[in-house]
Amino acid sequence: MQEESVAAIIKKMYLNLPMSQEVTKTDVAYNLKKVRDQMRDAAARAGRDAASIRLVAVSKGHGADIIRQAAAAGQTCFGENYVQSLTTKAKEFPALEWHFIGHLQKNKINTLLPHIRCLQTIDSWALAEAVDRRLPQRLEGLIEVHLGGEATKSGCDPKSVIALVEQINRLDHIALRGLMVIPPFLENPEESRPYFRQIRTLLEEINRLGAYKTPLTELSMGMSHDFGVAIEEGATLVRIGAAIFGPRV
Ligand SMILES: *Cc1c(COP(=O)(O)O)cnc(C)c1O
Repeated sequence: MQEESVAAIIKKMYLNLPMSQEVTKTDVAYNLKKVRDQMRDAAARAGRDAASIRLVAVSKGHGADIIRQAAAAGQTCFGENYVQSLTTKAKEFPALEWHFIGHLQKNKINTLLPHIRCLQTIDSWALAEAVDRRLPQRLEGLIEVHLGGEATKSGCDPKSVIALVEQINRLDHIALRGLMVIPPFLENPEESRPYFRQIRTLLEEINRLGAYKTPLTELSMGMSHDFGVAIEEGATLVRIGAAIFGPRV
C-alpha cells in the first residue's frame, strides 16, 4: 500500500536529496487520489453512493507541511487523537474541519472543544455530560463502541450503548450522529468484517427502537488496511492516516 512513498523515500536517500516540497507534494496528492479511487470502488462493490462516504485524513505524527499539501489536494476533513496536536494544528488551519478520534480526558475538554467539529469518542455518560456542560454551541458526536479485547482500551461496552444513547437525548448541545469503532487489529481485513457488521447492526437497532430523537446515520469505521471492507459494511466516515501520509516516524 505504501509502495509509492517508500520508493520516493529510498530514491531520496540514494540521490542524497533534501526532502523537497515538490516530491512530497506529489506523493500526498497521489496517495489521496488513490485512496479516494479505492473508496469509490468499494462503494460501487456495495452498490452505495460514494458521495455518502467521507474521508477523515488522520494527520497524527505528521507536521503542518503535510496538512498543507493534503488541503491543496482538496482534503478538508482531518482527524487527530491527541488534544495537544489537534489544537496546535487546528490553530494553524482553522478553516479545515477537525475531528477528535482519541481518548478524551476530562481535564482537556476545555482546550479541545473550541477547535473541533466532531467528537468521535464519546464513551460514557460522565464524558458526554461534562462535554455538554462546557459547550456554548452544538457539537456533533459519535459514541465509540468497544469491540474485542485489548486493541482498544476505551469505548462503550456494546451492551451499554443503547442506554447511553437514551441518556444523550437529554443533552442540549451534543448532536449525536452515530457510532465509531476501532476493531482489534487483524492482518487480514476480511477478519474485521464481522466487527463492522456488528456495529452496523447496533446502529440499525438503535434506530429501530427510536432510542435517539433523530435517526443516527454515521458509522466511523475503517483505517488504512481495512477501509474497503468497512465501506462494504456501511462505513460513512473512514479514518485514514498511513495510506495518505506514509508511515509515521
Ligand atoms: C491512527 C488512527 C487511525 C488511522 O490509522 P492508519 O492505519 O494510519 O490509517 C484511525 N483511527 C484512529 C482512532 C487512529 O488512532
